[in-house]
Amino acid sequence: MTKLLLDYVKDAKTIGISGHIHPDGDCIGSVLSCYMYLKNALPLATIHAYAESVSNSFTMLSRVEELDTSYSFPEEPYDVFISLDCGSIDRLGRCQDEFLRAKRTVSFDHHITNTNFADENIVNAAASSTSEVLFDHMERELIDLPIAEALYLGIMHDTGVFKYSCTSEKTMCTVGYLMSKGIDTASLVDKSFYMKSFIQLKTLGCALSKAELGLGGKMIYTILTQEDIAKIGARMTDTEGIVSELRTTEGVEAAVFIREEAPGIYKFSLRSNGLVDVSTISSSFGGGGHKMAAGFTAEGSLDEIFTQVSAMIMLQI
Ligand code: 5GP
Ligand code: MN
Repeated sequence: MTKLLLDYVKDAKTIGISGHIHPDGDCIGSVLSCYMYLKNALPLATIHAYAESVSNSFTMLSRVEELDTSYSFPEEPYDVFISLDCGSIDRLGRCQDEFLRAKRTVSFDHHITNTNFADENIVNAAASSTSEVLFDHMERELIDLPIAEALYLGIMHDTGVFKYSCTSEKTMCTVGYLMSKGIDTASLVDKSFYMKSFIQLKTLGCALSKAELGLGGKMIYTILTQEDIAKIGARMTDTEGIVSELRTTEGVEAAVFIREEAPGIYKFSLRSNGLVDVSTISSSFGGGGHKMAAGFTAEGSLDEIFTQVSAMIMLQI
């Protein structure tokens, strides 16, 4: 029988929850659904959820304002700390030490590169998203509308609105069940996925106008420098989705989006259309992810790092 989410936090009086740095939809969706689920089920427990930031694409979710973005930690270590959507412990960012200090640790994830860093690791690389993994460990009758919306949003983001190859029959059964809780799916998908702020639109436009083809048209790449981002007045979270736009270019096997985080520090986001395994490329730079979507952060000469990435893509096409 499947061990349920509540079994993993048995007897815990204090519970900490966190996802990864630069939180995406699956991260926020899984953190919030886990938080609301445990809050409802364990009214006497102290439950605290952390997030580095919350993009405008997720602010329609219930209780999103309760996520602690200023990282206040209790004096006593947590009885249980739950990591969500993190393939490795460093992905927890400012929660890493608090996680290590906790009496028991649990990790729910779906990254093939997961390093099993917790006491209990629930990793399903066949699942579309951590939200889908979490759903499998929730009792159906304890899933109310706000929890269903958060899970739905998480699955929707990691599947690119149910179109990436990680979308399985089971994924669709899961979202079908979540819909039955009364989600206004048309409004949720529009507000969270397609609606952009004007700044996000300009950021996408800038990145697309600088895009170049390489490897005989099989690789597309672009970069946003700190100067570009400052000129537009964008925030880091405003660059989400750019790499997906690159990936849909005809003839392309791999898309590379580079964001300059600080002088000499570059965040690479990689996407594949099937032939290239971008997770192994990212892992070799200390990052991780999935076969079709992965990333890493590297320091040094951009030319050198990019040349290496490009050579690794070339070997696979
Ligand atoms: P994105 O390119 O959207 O930031 O990330 C794509 C996928 O790769 C996500 O599943 C994300 O968790 C993973 N990923 C991105 N950057 C890193 C990284 O620096 N380290 C690890 N382990 N995974 C990453
Ligand atoms: Mn995920």
